Amino acid sequence: MITLAEAVKLGAVHTVYPGVLSLYLTVPADPAGARALPARAGELIGAAETAAGGGRVRAEDRRWVLENLQVNGRDWLGRTVAMFACADAGLSEAFPLPCHQPDRAVLGIRPHVRPLLAALQRCPAYRVAVVDQQRVWQYHVADDETGTVTVPVAAAAAAMLERVMADGDPEPLVIGGDDDGIRQLFASLPPGLRERFAGSFTADARTLTAARVRELAAPLVARWAAERAEHLAEQVAATRPDGLAAIGLRACLSAVNASAVQTLIVPDQGLVPGYECGRCGDLSVEADSCPDWGTAALPVPDVIEEMVTRTLEDGGRVSCLHDGPSRIEARLLG
Ligand SMILES: [Zn+2]
Repeated sequence: MITLAEAVKLGAVHTVYPGVLSLYLTVPADPAGARALPARAGELIGAAETAAGGGRVRAEDRRWVLENLQVNGRDWLGRTVAMFACADAGLSEAFPLPCHQPDRAVLGIRPHVRPLLAALQRCPAYRVAVVDQQRVWQYHVADDETGTVTVPVAAAAAAMLERVMADGDPEPLVIGGDDDGIRQLFASLPPGLRERFAGSFTADARTLTAARVRELAAPLVARWAAERAEHLAEQVAATRPDGLAAIGLRACLSAVNASAVQTLIVPDQGLVPGYECGRCGDLSVEADSCPDWGTAALPVPDVIEEMVTRTLEDGGRVSCLHDGPSRIEARLLG
């Protein structure tokens, strides 16, 4: 499964003309339906070209996408696959997402990563610790893969969890097993891990299979992810009175230009065309908001994608909302 760090790296790929193709496509669960994929991809690519004002996807990029779907489509049955292609930038990536996203293709100056970020946010990789009196079984769930480690006692388990969870994306943690074991392990968690505690389930550790562990933990993780997105949005909303918030596209563009964003909230769909100043790099929706304009304005197909990339590169957080109102808001650095 792709990590957030890899998604950020992907989003940093950049061309001067709109030549980066991003395609999100859900492969039918029925193998017979997979045969129609290249035709469906062709339609979406055509729509992306029209939306890009008559821009064209390079023939070799189109070929790579269609061939890939033909050859690998059966490995992705029932899943949404994300594909990014730009031969000029040396880019050709295809991988399934951890949860579904609407079908769409975008032709831009960088990969359209908002749907990918939204999927990672909604269905993150996670850890499960299952405890009984003597042992702790530790699971790492990412996509289809579930790895297991067994640790002798609960105190050592907390230390080990802390060690393995210190690297990579901040993953949520679920604890399962008997009630006493859950209580003890939770009590020994360091504060950093408690923040990522997504919930617990009671079960007999000796009879649990990896599949059952996932079944019990997945709803807890989904709820944790939804609450976290909501919490971020509330945090931004609550910031309004003290002036550390930017509401709306224009205010957020200024904040991003000033590298002042702590948390950026954007819709996961919809493109807003604008400009980037070739001299100072400022983003804008209008052609006259920077003193350099007229001499160095570069059109960008989607300023939201630019804002997302810059915020992540500056070390800020981005929340891509799927269902909510299509608002753009930011909490600023204090
Ligand atoms: Zn400028």
